[in-house]
Amino acid sequence: MFDTSALIDVGKELERLAPSNVYPEAMYRSSIGRYYYACYHASKSLCIRNADWDNKDKSSHKAVASALRKKNRFLASMLDDLRLLREHADYHVWRCKELVTDDRHHPRCDCDWDPDTRSNCAKASNIAKWIADELKKSRSQAP
Ligand SMILES: [Zn+2]
Repeated sequence: MFDTSALIDVGKELERLAPSNVYPEAMYRSSIGRYYYACYHASKSLCIRNADWDNKDKSSHKAVASALRKKNRFLASMLDDLRLLREHADYHVWRCKELVTDDRHHPRCDCDWDPDTRSNCAKASNIAKWIADELKKSRSQAP
C-alpha cells in the first residue's frame, strides 16, 4: 500500500520550491492539497474499516470526518479546517473579498482565509503536521 504520509513531504517540497518557481501560487495551492490528502488518508486508515474503503458512502470525506469526530472532536475540527483550506485552494481561483473593491465584481471568494496563498499554505502545513503527530500518538496508544 502507498504510504500516504509521503504526501506531507511532497507538500513541504512544493512549499519550499514555490518562491523560486515560475508558478508560485499554483505550487502553494498544490501543497495545501497534498497536506490535506495526507491527513485525510491517515484519518481514514485510523477510523474506517479496510472492508469499507471501496464503499464511497463509508469512506467519503464526510464519512471520515464524522468517524474521526467520534474519536476526537478537536482533531476532526482541525481536519475540517484543512479540508476548507484545500477547497479554497483548489476551487476559489477568483479574488478574495478583501481585494475586491467593486461590489459588482463577480465571482469573488467570501472565505475568511488570508488573501495570501503563501500564508494559507503555512497554515495548512502547521495543521497537517499537528494532525499527523496526533494520529501517530493515537495509533501508538491503540490496543
Ligand atoms: Zn475561498
